[in-house]
Amino acid sequence: MTSLPLGATIGILGGGQLGRMLSVAAARLGYRTHIFEPDTAPAADVVHALTTASYEDTAALTAFGKAVDVITYEFENIPTSALDTLEALAPIQPNRRALATSQDRITEKDFLTGLGLKTAPYANVESAADLDAALAELGTPSILKTRRFGYDGKGQLRLKDGDTGAAYAQMNDAPCVLEGFIDFSHEVSVIAARNADGQVSCFDPGENIHKDGILRTTTVPARLSASQRTDAVLMAAQILNALDYVGVMGLELFVTPQGLIVNEIAPRVHNSGHWTQNGCVIDQFEQHIRAITGLPLGDGQRYADVVMENLIGEDMDRLPDLLSAGNAALHLYGKAETKPGRKMGHVNRVS
Ligand code: AMP
Repeated sequence: MTSLPLGATIGILGGGQLGRMLSVAAARLGYRTHIFEPDTAPAADVVHALTTASYEDTAALTAFGKAVDVITYEFENIPTSALDTLEALAPIQPNRRALATSQDRITEKDFLTGLGLKTAPYANVESAADLDAALAELGTPSILKTRRFGYDGKGQLRLKDGDTGAAYAQMNDAPCVLEGFIDFSHEVSVIAARNADGQVSCFDPGENIHKDGILRTTTVPARLSASQRTDAVLMAAQILNALDYVGVMGLELFVTPQGLIVNEIAPRVHNSGHWTQNGCVIDQFEQHIRAITGLPLGDGQRYADVVMENLIGEDMDRLPDLLSAGNAALHLYGKAETKPGRKMGHVNRVS
């Protein structure tokens, strides 16, 4: 495919830290970015243009769509009506099928199992009676999750022995999925990219530790056997090809004695891929920009061991120590206010 000319403008839906780091990578490759964000945008410091408007504002969406050459996004919960408006004006990458698949946990699991990949056992739950039936099938422990709009462990309820369908009352009538509990030894993720020519490139899997549903650290290399490593990368490539995907995707996996089980896919650059900024020649952000602008992909090769640690809330008090460590690359998001649970930055320790 022909690549976007230098100076072309990439539209990004969402102006958080991912939009910010995508914008820096785009600028390095000679592209401009235009962010669309309803709230305050940490990305605003580093972009060419910013539209502050809601996803219901059709006039603002139309002006944005006309001003950009390609549209991408940093989060998956974009309203369908906004996408309908935008897709008439500029190509959206990753494509809408990838978005629709990952927006709904049941659609996503149906897609993954249809490819022959393993997921947690699951059942649709839209009422207390559904939850009773699902509990009879899947048992406890199990996890009830909203089908849509969940992130960082939000919208989830762990069910234990003795729980019944009555627990559904805590989910505010949202359509849910009940997932059987996976007894995993650890969690890993693969960050993978595909461009429109079908070139696929994967980064080395990272091992992830979550606390209170939020990613705390990613360590590369992950504890995986050679065959598990190959399996993880092949799974990612299979998913990308099946979706005719263009861009970077995050694939989260549980490691179990029975093999790798897919937790979820994210159709965007991913927090567990931040280590690539200091462990690879071409990081996940540049890889995503290369993919959506039609440039050849980097090879994803890792040249260092890295531990990425998220700086959340009061972790910012440790800045002086972090700055005085010689091998810690600091990436701050420019957020004005530090709040508990808020991702303020991350640090990559390289060895
Ligand atoms: P999620 O939002 O689906 O990524 O879930 C957040 C975290 O909850 C995961 O990273 C796991 O640590 C845990 N988790 C989610 N689903 C399951 C499951 N089916 N079995 C065991 N742990 C799970």
